[in-house]
Amino acid sequence: MSGLIEKYADRLPLPADARAISLGEGNTPLIRLNNLARGLPTDIELYVKYEGLNPTGSFKDRGMTVAVTQAVAEGSQAIICASTGNTSAAAAAYAARAGIRAFVLIPDGKIAMGKLAQAIMHGADVLQIQGNFDDGMRIVKEMAQSAPVSLVNSVNPYRLQGQKTAAFEICETLGRAPDYHCLPVGNAGNITAYWMGYTEMALAPGQTGTAACHFCQGECPYHQGAVTQRPVMVGYQASGSAPFLRGHPVEQPETVATAIRIGAPQSWTQALAASQESNGWFDEFDDAEILEVQWQLASQEGIFCEPASAVSVAGALRDIRSGRIPAGSTVVCTLTGHGLKDPDVAHQRADQALSKVEASPEAVREAILRSLG
Ligand SMILES: *Cc1c(COP(=O)(O)O)cnc(C)c1O
Repeated sequence: MSGLIEKYADRLPLPADARAISLGEGNTPLIRLNNLARGLPTDIELYVKYEGLNPTGSFKDRGMTVAVTQAVAEGSQAIICASTGNTSAAAAAYAARAGIRAFVLIPDGKIAMGKLAQAIMHGADVLQIQGNFDDGMRIVKEMAQSAPVSLVNSVNPYRLQGQKTAAFEICETLGRAPDYHCLPVGNAGNITAYWMGYTEMALAPGQTGTAACHFCQGECPYHQGAVTQRPVMVGYQASGSAPFLRGHPVEQPETVATAIRIGAPQSWTQALAASQESNGWFDEFDDAEILEVQWQLASQEGIFCEPASAVSVAGALRDIRSGRIPAGSTVVCTLTGHGLKDPDVAHQRADQALSKVEASPEAVREAILRSLG
């Protein structure tokens, strides 16, 4: 088993003698969409980076392996985070692996059952607050100052360092950077991390002068000069939770896509910089559109992602059809989390999908023939 710390040791700011806390994260598949791409210009190459196949089922594992490794190297005995679900699942698992404690603050209701199950089973102290993610974020930032706990939300720079490796993998697989990179935006850490990763891939060793790379103020050891261009970064939000579209924080964010139900993104400035430096944009989708594309991906491509993830593909399809993303483009969408995280969404389709039949060959044959028409 080799995780991303082992693979990218020379591009991560960890102490050389740090004990890597790893569950074999990263190295996720980049899958070309076939069926959903029908009807698009034939020279479009549309891919999904299926981050649901990380150890706890979301991209959060990339950040958590690096953040927890650093916390343990600093002698920390406990970590803390606020979470809409996936950060708490990853924090709980990596803390268990490290043999330290995890405190996770989750919102009152609106947490997907699979994510809550993970935090509980990995032995975290789950604190359900009477408030939303943004309230939790305020509290854990204060705890990091006043209690013996290390904060592992994406304001922790080691999280973004780990998450940038997804951009490395995409460039390695394609042999180049894509022309467009589409992803869901919640707290805005991931769009920031991808832009950092692409920037490190594109800048030549010794080249400086971009805000995206955290080390560019001085000597940056991480520039690869391995690709010739960076992608346009496109961020998609749920309409009920779209601070980047409104231009200001949203008080009471609401959406079925609970992973991006965040009104006050912590990496606002960096995400805006990534969007502007890359000539990108933000756009929004309502819940019905998000669930429809989630269903299409699952039923037509065999790829089950959670609702928040599907907004990236919804966005890419709309922008390719409108021509905003031009023919001939190579497009990558991040599918941030696995569909099994949020089984309630599937249960809502059970009425159409489930038919009760008598336990006899005749009844089953009849059901098959009826269904095949
Ligand atoms: C965390 C998360 C997001 C949002 O990522 P940010 O870095 O907060 O913008 C999107 N989808 C899923 C499944 C997530 O877990």
